[in-house]
Formats: sequence, structure tokens, C-alpha cells
Amino acid sequence: NLDLHRREPCLFKQSYLLADHLGKGAFAHVRVAINRVTGERFAAKIIDRNRIPQLEKRRKLDENFRVETSILSRVRHPSIVQVHGVFRESDRLYLVLDLAAGGELFDEIVHRQCLSEDDSRRVLLQLLLAIRHLHRMGIVHRDIKLENILLADKAALRLKLADFGLAKIVGEQMFMKTVCGTPMYVAPEVLTVRQAGVYDNLVDVWSLGVVLYICLCGFPPFSDELAPPPMRDQIIAGMYSFPSPYWDTVSPEAIDLVCQMLQADPRSRITVDAALAHPWLRACCTPSGWTI
Ligand code: ADP
Ligand code: MG
Repeated sequence: NLDLHRREPCLFKQSYLLADHLGKGAFAHVRVAINRVTGERFAAKIIDRNRIPQLEKRRKLDENFRVETSILSRVRHPSIVQVHGVFRESDRLYLVLDLAAGGELFDEIVHRQCLSEDDSRRVLLQLLLAIRHLHRMGIVHRDIKLENILLADKAALRLKLADFGLAKIVGEQMFMKTVCGTPMYVAPEVLTVRQAGVYDNLVDVWSLGVVLYICLCGFPPFSDELAPPPMRDQIIAGMYSFPSPYWDTVSPEAIDLVCQMLQADPRSRITVDAALAHPWLRACCTPSGWTI
């Protein structure tokens, strides 16, 4: 039962032992949690409501947590973190998740500088299959970025998409009008939503386009560190380039897919199904268990 407003004793500490720190987000910290009975290791996402004094913000946080838990408990996919339990202590919320022991894809790319085309393809394929699954369930992630893409297995580059704190069910139009997400990965129509009206699941394709760009070269397509205009205006205008020498060795097929994913006008942007059928992704032999 995921009803947060029901008072229940905190069974979390009775069931799990907290161990190493795994990461930190805007409102949550994440630690290894070991099941006291089985010894199995999980990740516990812990939200400390005490840290947020403003009542309004707390309510928003509770709402995000409620949406995240209800979405995650409905989704079952090899490339999406699975939820194993939800607990509430007076001022703490606990979400018990699959442990992605390899850390964030962000750190792996920083470590390697960039990924080979084969590895980038492996990453993109898993993520496209994950968001195709979500979109079929009517769910838009809305916060796809390298910090929210975790590695279940670093050597094999097996990924788990995490952090559904901003995810929404499509059709709840009021929510879709909210400006959210992380600027560097955010689609133009999200930034201009007041003019453009509602947007849909193509925002995830845009963010994945940013992820693919970074995988292939090691730096982002839009940034305030580049020449002006400000990042927001670069995004709205779909203004980015493939600077030499970093992109010189990348195949034209890969560049074509990036261009099709980073189309500023969502009506011209490639869909998830079309991306899965793109020649660059078709070039790989699909590992068993991944069906397109
Ligand atoms: P927030 O909503 O505050 O951004 P996240 O869910 O993104 O919180 O978690 C914050 C960080 O904790 C992640 O970027 C990652 O480094 C780490 N983390 C989250 N979930 C897991 C997990 N299941 N396994 C391993 N590390 C995780
Ligand atoms: Mg996060």
C-alpha cells in the first residue's frame, strides 16, 4: 500500500540496514540498504522532509514522491529501476530500489571522456526501449539526463533509468504545462510552453538526443559556457554544432540521428519508433533479450 497519509510504524529500519552513500539529488540522498533477513542489497532513496521548512514546498515534495512511487511500482522493465518497498517515518520517506552498483553514466563518461560509437549505440538502444515502454503506458519521464541514468553493470554498460520525481502521466494537461526538468536537457517546447500549449512525450526524445550527443563527444550541445546567446535561447533556436576535431571521426549516420532527435520543432522530431528503426541503430547486432 503506497498511501503516504496513512500512519504506520516505521518498518524500514527493522527490515533494512543502511550502508554506503550512493548519491545525492535535489531533495533526496541515496544509500545502500541491506535486507536484514536475506542480506540482499538495494538502494534506498531517502527524503528528509525536515530539511524543507516551507509547508508549500513540503506538500509539493510529498506529491512528487507519491507520483514517483506510484509510477515506479507500476513499471517493470529491465532498463528501469524497480521499486521494492515504500516506507514513511514521521518526517522521512524511504523508497527501496534496485541497486545500480556501477553509479551514474555521468561519471563513467567523465572517466572515459566519451563513449565509442558501439557503446553509445548500446546506451541509446536501452534508453529508447525504456522510454518506448513508458510512453506505451502513458508515462513521460521529463528528467532524462546523465545523472539519472545509472549503471547496473559497468563493464556490459547495462543501464537503469532512475529518478521519476518529475515523471507524469500524459493526459493530465495541467501537469504538462508546468515548466520543469533540467535546463541543459530540456526541450524547446518546454521552455516556450506558454506560447506553444501542451507538449508530449517527444520531450523525452529531445533529452535523449542531448544524452546521445554527450556520449559521442563528451561535452553538451547547449551550454552557457559556449559563445552567447544564453543556453535557453540556444535551445529554443535549436542552435548547436558538431565542432572539429571531436566530431570528425563520428559516422554520418550517428550525426543524422542526433540531428533528428534535436529538432527544435517537436512536429519534425523523430519518434521513438522511428529512432529504433534508424540505420545507425539497425547497424548493431541486438544482444539477446533486447527486442526492437
Ligand atoms: P533526486 O530526485 O533528488 O535527483 P535521484 O533519484 O536522482 O534523486 O538520486 C540521486 C542520486 O543517487 C543519483 O543521481 C544516483 O547517483 C544515486 N542513485 C539513485 N538511485 C540509485 C540506485 N537505484 N542505485 C544506485 N545509485 C542510485
Ligand atoms: Mg536525480
